[in-house]
Amino acid sequence: MNIEEPLVIAVDGPAASGKGTLARALAKALGIAYLDTGALYRAVALMVRRSGGDPAVEADGMAAAHALAEGGHEDIFSDPELRSEENGQGASKVSALPGVRAALLELQRQFARRMPGAVLDGRDIGTHVCPDARVKLFVTAKPEIRAKRRFKELQDRGDAVMFPAVLADIESRDARDSQRAAAPLKPADDAVLLDTSELGIDQVLDTALAIVRERLSSGGAAAS
Ligand code: C5P
Repeated sequence: MNIEEPLVIAVDGPAASGKGTLARALAKALGIAYLDTGALYRAVALMVRRSGGDPAVEADGMAAAHALAEGGHEDIFSDPELRSEENGQGASKVSALPGVRAALLELQRQFARRMPGAVLDGRDIGTHVCPDARVKLFVTAKPEIRAKRRFKELQDRGDAVMFPAVLADIESRDARDSQRAAAPLKPADDAVLLDTSELGIDQVLDTALAIVRERLSSGGAAAS
């Protein structure tokens, strides 16, 4: 490993694929920082909604994104509404707005420059935010499995939810995230695909750590 360069690991994938759990565990195992970039879009959506704006309107989204990037709004990350399905839909809407994505880009890149490294999870980390990331993982799982995981997560939070609605929500979010023009959800050409449908977190982490070691020992280039 080149000690002058931070170790950047991009973990992308669709909603409830397990990428957040994996990214957090990877960061802990490697002793590097972790950034959940979805939380940034969720924060922007919530700020827009709280100020009476519309998450689909670019001016509303940009005002909130610039305010978030300037700092002083960190309380929003501990707001229980941040993780609700309704706010997830709002996040998916604000994240389709190019001005919002641009406003949050430098914040994410700055985070990725910290030593000794960072794991960033999102939708466009390997393709757009950190195209030079040393390791790129694209985490997937079947939609029904992702909906089951999200359903359990929401039930555990105490939200009154119905499984068919959660599945429909996952599918509509997948469609919006992968069909948008601005930095759509897709694997980078040099990403390693990791299907977590049949795997527990320990197996996913072991597989990911093996991929990281292999990349680092082969010179660290994010090439397949
Ligand atoms: O990962 P999470 O489900 O919390 O992300 C919420 C929404 O934020 C996603 O549906 C996606 O539209 C958006 N997002 C994005 N780019 C990222 C991270 C999240 O567009 N890097």
